[in-house]
Amino acid sequence: MGAGYHGGFGHTSGSGKAFKIGFTKAGVKLYTRDELIKSIDGVTTTSTMIADLLRNKKVGLNVIGDRLFSYAFNLGPDTLAFYSNGQIYVRSSSLSIIDDLVHEGKHAYDDKVLNKNRNFIKSRHGELRAYSAEREFQLATGRKPTYKDLNEMYKHIKKNYK
Ligand SMILES: [Zn+2]
Repeated sequence: MGAGYHGGFGHTSGSGKAFKIGFTKAGVKLYTRDELIKSIDGVTTTSTMIADLLRNKKVGLNVIGDRLFSYAFNLGPDTLAFYSNGQIYVRSSSLSIIDDLVHEGKHAYDDKVLNKNRNFIKSRHGELRAYSAEREFQLATGRKPTYKDLNEMYKHIKKNYK
């Protein structure tokens, strides 16, 4: 795919949800909640802190199918994941579900551990923190990061978030 993510908060004005937007494909591996937590534990300092928050139930993790994303949350196929009110929602069909979890987990960390407010969390600064955590995780797992350098990542954030 390689086209990268498109982010934004567009269509749900004022909901306070922080969205991550990208591509999905049918037939990807389906992860259980426990498998997802295990796959981020011990990789980076941030991802390990996120795993702890999830294991201790300080933050909820919901692995949601396409139908529920669409019916319950009224979100289109391009929304991969979001964080809202202490709950992380990831799309089971997302090709980048583990990275999505780290991204949303950083928003959850900023909320539940640092007590940052909603406006901070969905600001460019909040997104920079989430995208940086995701990038660090991708590099630590020996993969090519979504953005080839930090400049590309900044450009994406500037373009898609206010
Ligand atoms: Zn985000």
